[in-house]
This record gives sequence, structure tokens and C-alpha cells, in this order.
Amino acid sequence: MSTTMQTYIDEAEKALLHTYNRYQVVFDKGEGVYLYDIEGKKYLDFVSGIAVFALGYQKKEYNDALKAQIDKIIHTSNYYYNLPAIEAAKKLKEISGMDRVFFTNSGAEAVEGAIKTARKYAYLKDGTTDHEIIAMNHSFHGRTMGALSVTGNAHYREAFAPMIGHIQFADLNDFDSVASLVTDKTCAILFETVQGEGGIYPATKDFMRRVRALCDERDILMILDEIQCGMGRTGTMYAWQRFGVKPDVMTTAKALGCGVPVGAFLMTEKVGAHSLAAGDHGTTYGGNPLACAAVCKVIELFEKENVLDNVNKTGAYLENRLDELVREFACVKQRRGVGLLQGIVFDRPVGEIIKRAMDEGLVLINAGTDIIRFVPPLIIKEEHVDEMIDILRRCIREAEGERQ
Ligand SMILES: *Cc1c(COP(=O)(O)O)cnc(C)c1O
Repeated sequence: MSTTMQTYIDEAEKALLHTYNRYQVVFDKGEGVYLYDIEGKKYLDFVSGIAVFALGYQKKEYNDALKAQIDKIIHTSNYYYNLPAIEAAKKLKEISGMDRVFFTNSGAEAVEGAIKTARKYAYLKDGTTDHEIIAMNHSFHGRTMGALSVTGNAHYREAFAPMIGHIQFADLNDFDSVASLVTDKTCAILFETVQGEGGIYPATKDFMRRVRALCDERDILMILDEIQCGMGRTGTMYAWQRFGVKPDVMTTAKALGCGVPVGAFLMTEKVGAHSLAAGDHGTTYGGNPLACAAVCKVIELFEKENVLDNVNKTGAYLENRLDELVREFACVKQRRGVGLLQGIVFDRPVGEIIKRAMDEGLVLINAGTDIIRFVPPLIIKEEHVDEMIDILRRCIREAEGERQ
């Protein structure tokens, strides 16, 4: 690394709060599916800012739409209407099949809104509070106090107790573990349709259907967190759309704005009419014209460029090529995932391999300590998958060689 890059990193470590162990690189710009650091070194990007930059970098139409909006107005307030927010909400309804939209600035805030929706819905039904939410082990829903309270990772929660109360954890795909926690106080069952951070665990069709039936029977809200697995990543606009069931409330963010910070929680008409009302919830920035101009353009480009077709095609190819690694290397135990949300499970921590890949010009990320996660831009082609596999295979071989 050059002394200039090292100088910037040293400055960063003096000014930024040390909440991340960052990779030793300063990125400067992106183009398509490639990133460049400040020294001009090129990297193939299989992270896309953690499932955010779905359309790739320097997408001209997207950049132009943002620039045009900046020259009109960036922010007003939710006390007034604005055209990008109206258009974005209509488009989001169309792609999700949900009825009511609340825009947020982040994923965690969308989860907060979903939790408040469920509590208010239950409160309006029986006039009591202290309602319970069932969430899942290995889940990840964000770092704010409410979202953290439903995150099934004790390590993330430990120092910050007490959490918000009356949350219980069941196991994804173990319907009985969910059903056994349901009481008259249960207001919501919340999970990711495909768990991301927690290790790339997809929910099964059977689990989805049985939870849906249980929620219908007991008038409990089924809340799906689609922040990572949504926006086309698994080959349908939202991952639950493959299952023939529909949630009552869902969250979306990450790729929704493709880099402009924006999220949303959405609900059915029925929940919308019987939960949050005027004065119950708000946000200064959420759904501002700039963020919503991004949402509009992203959804438009998804359709125009047949992003879902590409995910289905390239996702299948990625699966096959990752399966080759499972067959080839004893240290690679398993592949899991759907579409362009994939993980391969190692029998050891993967930090060393990811560092090697960075040196070789490939950006990868882990999910937990033993899993390499693949969340590339949704526009990647087979040739990029091949390029990634070549580098990764070399890195695994080298890491293996040094262990012997
Ligand atoms: C990233 C993520 C969040 C949190 O989103 P932020 O924008 O970081 O607050 C919540 N849920 C899931 C499933 C995520 O992947």
C-alpha cells in the first residue's frame, strides 16, 4: 500500500469512531461492477455495498435523475406532498402488491416502524399493551434499540440491555418452535424471508405457509424483513413472492435507492386502516424528494433492463460455479442461498481468504465468521462470475497451501 493510502487510513482511525474493523483500502469510484481505490487499483465487486448498488456504479440514467432532482428540490417535509414521493409510493405498491407505504431513511428505521405498527394494531384490538413479538434466532434487523431487540444474536444485544420487552426467539423453518411461543398477547411473527447477516438461511415454503395460516387463525401480523433479500435479489421483486403467501407488513431498504439512503415499511389496507394514524409516527427526512427520485428511477430501471431475468439466469450460473468449489475443496462444506444472495460455508473463519481476495482485486464479504457471502450487483454476467471464481479458487488454494 502507498504511504498516501496509509496516511488517509491513519487519519480515518483518528477521527471515526472505531465501530468497524475495516479492510485496508480507500475506495474512490465505481464503474459498472468494478470499484477503484484511490491509487487506481481495480476490484471486481461481489458485495455492492452490502446488497445496495444493484444496478452497478455510474448508471447514467440513475445519476442524471438524481442530478435533475437536486436542481429542483432535495427536501421539503412530510407535512407537504411532493411528486417523487407520490410516484415512488405508487411504484412500490405495484412491485410489492402491498397497499400502504411509509418511507424511512434506513433499514433499521423500517423495522422500527413495522414493530410500532404491530403494537398499535394489537392495542387497537384489545386496549392493552405488553404485546409480544416472535422473532428468529440468527436474524438481523438493524442496530437501533427496537431493531436490535428483535435481532437473534445475543452478542449484538448483550451490552445494550434492557431491550424492548416481550420479544421471544424461535428457529426459522421450525414451525413448532414458533407455534409453541404463541400466546393471546402475540402481536407479530417477524423474520427475514432469507436470513442474510445470520448466515444465508432461506425460509422454506412449508414454513412460510404454516406461519401464514397461524397468523390468519390468531389475527397475528406476519412481518417479513426484505431489506437484504428483497429488490430482486432472489429473482422475484420480493423474496416472499415465490411462495404464494403475502405478509401483512414488510420492510425494504438497501437496494431500494441503490445508494441513496432510503427504506420503507409497507402494509396491507387492513393493517393500514387499523394501526398507525396521524401523529403516531413521523420522520424529517424519510421519503424526501431526492430519496424518492432515486426509488422511482431504480424501479423503472429494474423493469426496463429486465433485472429479474438476469438474476434468475446469472444466479443459477453462480450456484453451479459455487457448487464446483464445494466439490473441489474439503474446507468448503456447503452452499446456501437463492438467486444472487448466496453463501459458501467453510470449516474455519474466512477472514484470511477475504483479505487475500482483496489483494487480488476481488471484493467479498463474510456472513458470520465461517461463511463467504455473495451479494453482487444484480447486473453481473456469467463472465464476471467466472472472473470471481478464478480469483477465489486461487485464494482458497493459497490459503490451503499455507496451512500444510
Ligand atoms: C441491513 C439490514 C437491516 C438494517 O438496515 P440499515 O439500513 O443498516 O439500518 C435490517 N434488516 C436486514 C435483513 C438487513 O440486511
